[in-house]
Amino acid sequence: MTFLAARARLIVPFLIVVFLTAGLAAAQEVPPEPEATLVEAGDIPTLLDSRVTTTQDRARLVLDLTGTTEFGVHTLADPMRVVVELRAQSEDDATPTAPSGEGLVSGYSKGPAGTDRVRVELALAAPVQVQQSYILEAFEDQPARLVIDLVPDSEANFLANVQRPDAETTVSTAELATPETAPGETTTAASDVRPLIVIDPGHGGVDGGARASNGLEEKNIVLAFALKLQSLLVETGQFDVALTRDTDVFLTLSERVSLARQNRADLFISLHADSFDQPDVRGASIYTRGDLATSEIDRVLAENENRADLIAGFNPPEEAAAVSALLDLMSRTTRRQSYLAGQALIDQLEPSVQLRRFPLRQADFFVLNSPDVPSVLIELGFLSNADDTENLTTDAWLDRVAAALARGIAVYVDGQS
Ligand SMILES: [Zn+2]
Repeated sequence: MTFLAARARLIVPFLIVVFLTAGLAAAQEVPPEPEATLVEAGDIPTLLDSRVTTTQDRARLVLDLTGTTEFGVHTLADPMRVVVELRAQSEDDATPTAPSGEGLVSGYSKGPAGTDRVRVELALAAPVQVQQSYILEAFEDQPARLVIDLVPDSEANFLANVQRPDAETTVSTAELATPETAPGETTTAASDVRPLIVIDPGHGGVDGGARASNGLEEKNIVLAFALKLQSLLVETGQFDVALTRDTDVFLTLSERVSLARQNRADLFISLHADSFDQPDVRGASIYTRGDLATSEIDRVLAENENRADLIAGFNPPEEAAAVSALLDLMSRTTRRQSYLAGQALIDQLEPSVQLRRFPLRQADFFVLNSPDVPSVLIELGFLSNADDTENLTTDAWLDRVAAALARGIAVYVDGQS
């Protein structure tokens, strides 16, 4: 348990950190047993639509289905391809349009494979590894979705994966897929110190934050969500996870930033669900720090948030001389990492929930000012919008968002190691 000692040294007294036991961490290295069939016998989901987006850095296959189902993903050589087989029937037999332009995937096809199976093949322009694969249950007007993400890999690793006898993975539901580790690499869980994720539920105590028309307060919504996200992340065995507050208390904006910095967090995530005077503005979005706000809405949001300290009778952080020094100190690396973290989170949210247009935004939020801790602020939605407010009180929606964020955090952290 050396990492505990090493980690504890860094923790300031009032930061709440959840550690995993070594036993739980070890258990996470074993892939989960495939679950029993999720659908009733004879009740075969229908494949409604399929699409591929592909660039040089990444490719994603999304299959829309009438329900969740079992699926398997494996890679084949000569020629290089990724094959997805799922228990489903296909509605349209039209050949999907081949991905255009240059990217990891050069073509794809789908067709029946037996009476109750559909096979989708992705022809590869370059060696890849399956970064993650998961299935989302149908939600509101969205169909169930099977999502498979591919990232570039070396030819040697690709061939090694092809030859692995257990290369085929069959998964029923994997809301929280752990990114695969290439052969020979050690998993994150095996390292002495796990990355520390600090989650910051906005507002608290006298500062209730935004308030919905039904009286619901932002401070309570984001705290409940932070606890949910924390337990999901801890379950992966990949992270240490700390909250800046786990009760209804007030913290100054500076205290939130300091907690992340003093504990040398690997990622700081501030959670909000604000309101705006245009009730039609809705959807989730993620902010990194920028002097120039993406839009007027973003500027106003940040300005309101930065007044949080005033509400509780503290000086606003802008007046502290130290702040302007901090801004100049923010390294290019931290900015870049914050952007990458935001992008990874958006990538995972995108198939799951409604996002604002241009969901990765910039604004001058004070809590994003750590010069040395990559930081993002997540607006889960707007309490000034009725649909968002409904979502923010719906467990299934909150679970979906938490799972997507946990995946995004895993992808970001994986890319940093
Ligand atoms: Zn807020």
